Amino acid sequence: MGKFYLIIDGEKKTAEKSFGVINPATESVFAQAPDCSRQLLNLAVESASQAFNSWKIDEAARRNALSACADVLRSSAEELAEIYTQEQGKTLRQSKEELYWSAWWIDEVLSLEIPVDLAFEDEIKRHEVHRKPLGVIGSIEAWNFPILLAIAKIAPALLVGNTMVVKPSPYTPLTTLRMGELFSEILPPGVLNIISGGDQLGAWMTSHPKIQKVTLTGSVATGIKVYQSVASNLRRVTLELGGNDAAIVLEDNDPKEIAGEIFTRAFAQNGQICFAIKRLYVHENIYSEMVDELKKLAESVVLGDGSDPKVNIGPINNLMQLNRVIELTEDARDHGAKILTGGKRLDRPGYFFPPTIVTNISDGIRLVDEEQFGPVLPVISFIDENEVIERANANDFGLGGSVWTRNLEHGIELAARLECGSAGVNQHVDFHPKVPFGGTKQSGLGIKNGIWGLDDLCQLQVISIKK
Ligand code: NAD
Repeated sequence: MGKFYLIIDGEKKTAEKSFGVINPATESVFAQAPDCSRQLLNLAVESASQAFNSWKIDEAARRNALSACADVLRSSAEELAEIYTQEQGKTLRQSKEELYWSAWWIDEVLSLEIPVDLAFEDEIKRHEVHRKPLGVIGSIEAWNFPILLAIAKIAPALLVGNTMVVKPSPYTPLTTLRMGELFSEILPPGVLNIISGGDQLGAWMTSHPKIQKVTLTGSVATGIKVYQSVASNLRRVTLELGGNDAAIVLEDNDPKEIAGEIFTRAFAQNGQICFAIKRLYVHENIYSEMVDELKKLAESVVLGDGSDPKVNIGPINNLMQLNRVIELTEDARDHGAKILTGGKRLDRPGYFFPPTIVTNISDGIRLVDEEQFGPVLPVISFIDENEVIERANANDFGLGGSVWTRNLEHGIELAARLECGSAGVNQHVDFHPKVPFGGTKQSGLGIKNGIWGLDDLCQLQVISIKK
């Protein structure tokens, strides 16, 4: 596996201190990551700041370099996936898929034009709207999809001419550092700096005077701290935070037909997806059939070390998250909920918790009201459509949501009433490089992906021309 380095100014740098990275399938430290000091952060920001002067100028060169980054990600996917599974816990197949997906993501971003809009024109004047890069962007990542979510920021930010300092989560720093090493062979020095460290390093980034914008993927609690910190020097910010997505299944569905997709969208990667289905509302008339189908699916999952090809779901990524899942499950049990299947940590090393279906539960219990970010799904019955929309909306989060029905028109009408950034009909959120993504309420601020995401990484400049 070799040693891991910070990537600063196009070079591999060591740090004085390091920290251990745990394989969640074994609970053992399997590698050390460099712990970036404040001095090294300053060096990274300075380097990104210098690189900005030339990187912002030549769009064609940026496109060529990013395209080469996509190629190297593809050709290194197998090697990177080995590290990825060990630090994140996802299966080797999921790790490879995410790496290929990330390479494709860069290609899709490159197919976007950076538009110049015409705001107004008459015989004597014309007002054009141009998109200009902001400068150095500080990007702070979560541990659930560390590569894809970093790429979804890096590709558009670099395309429009910004330079970056990227900090992966302390739980999953290694693949990002190695990816940075590969990219440093392609990108000019300083364009993309990768630094690993704990939460304190993130806090130093958000208050750094030369970082023009901070983009965070993380929890609401961190989002609030980051927002407060950037406010002190009026920096821009994008916050991609948590979710508590409701999926609403109307009575015209056949549970056998849709249970598979619903199960996948709730339990893929152990439910550690910001827009996973986290509350499932099912019409009373099909409730017990739906629950039976979900139970069968939950019991068919092979849970284990993601490096074993027979396994379909790996461990939860970290102990803190596992403990949260246990706490919310126990709280639901104490409040009279029925744990239909699963519900207990596996008695073996590793952060394993089986897919868990919870019934006899409703709003007002923590497992329904809060984000579990884990493999425990509360299934809640409803009778009245208007009431269930109100219940879905009565939550501080507003990331995604969905309505499942054979009546598409009615589905669209109900989906439009959900208070969330992405509302699906017969599918949950479709995370796509051309489709805007962002949350309402406490799920975040700002938008990523597509042309709307480019705008979030640019300063609009009006050029007014007198003819
Ligand atoms: P977290 O908030 O604990 O950490 C996220 C990152 O912020 C880490 O790199 C961490 O080191 C850093 N950080 C922590 N404190 C900081 C501070 N004071 N200043 C600056 N940086 C700081 O979140 P997590 O546990 O890694 O991720 C899980 C959460 O992320 C869930 O709530 C999930 O829903 C959310 N998430 C959201 C999206 C989205 O796009 N909306 C995507 C993935 C995950």
